[in-house]
Amino acid sequence: MELEPHIQIRNLRVEYDRGEHLALKDINLDIPKNQITAIMGPSGCGKTTLLKSLNRFLELNGSTSISGQVLVDGEDIQTPGADVTEIRKRIGLLAQRPYPLPMSIYDNVAYGMRIHRMMPSGRKGKRVTDEKVQQYLEMAGLWDEVKDRLHKPASGLSIGQQQRLCLARGLAVEPEILLGDEPTSALDPISAQHIEKRLLELKDRYTIVLVTHVLRQAKRLGDYVIFMYLGEVVECGPAHEVFDHPKKERTRAYLEGLF
Ligand code: ADP
Ligand code: MG
Repeated sequence: MELEPHIQIRNLRVEYDRGEHLALKDINLDIPKNQITAIMGPSGCGKTTLLKSLNRFLELNGSTSISGQVLVDGEDIQTPGADVTEIRKRIGLLAQRPYPLPMSIYDNVAYGMRIHRMMPSGRKGKRVTDEKVQQYLEMAGLWDEVKDRLHKPASGLSIGQQQRLCLARGLAVEPEILLGDEPTSALDPISAQHIEKRLLELKDRYTIVLVTHVLRQAKRLGDYVIFMYLGEVVECGPAHEVFDHPKKERTRAYLEGLF
């Protein structure tokens, strides 16, 4: 790849249920910096597993095993000594459904900044936090809709607004990488458009990895695409190449809607 890789995945293998279920087989990928990478593929092919392995979200209980490497800026996030809190700060995840915290709109955005002690204390801290909360709500395209009710519970927002709030909350800890797991699939079309628009605006500053099973969304947003099937990467490359000239028969069949 000519583009600078931000994430490099080497021989990644994930097994669930004590090896009964091989979810990812020997994945090797380079994910480019400051681009949108769209991961597509039919349900159950391992998209969510792959995404979770990028920010240490895979449950490391006795029944799941992971081998291989996930390098972010050349550093392996899987090494036992890696600081998981720091990794999750650098690599945010927007889930399929919004999970606002049971607190006010304002506090949802301020939460991560507080946890990571990113704010000065005292009166100055309050002013800086106010400014940052506004800034990230603006970046998420939600400010105008909530500026008059910042201290009301986040649970009162519509689901589309909640997803934008979760985006603001994710941005507020200043990550480098944003992961999205079908982040528009639970939303109405207008809210989905809002999120898509924001992601396009954000890609100059963030590396975005977006799982989607909506082919049109992958076409609208993806600079780089990865097509997965049954736990393997079938094909990956610049979006126009994969969409216009797929190399593999299976990719062609998927693009033609045969799955
Ligand atoms: P996708 O996001 O593409 O639909 P997933 O990554 O969620 O796929 O799942 C890949 C495969 O791994 C599926 O067969 C799924 O049933 C299985 N799987 C996912 N999570 C678990 C888990 N926690 N325990 C056991 N099997 C799982
Ligand atoms: Mg999934």
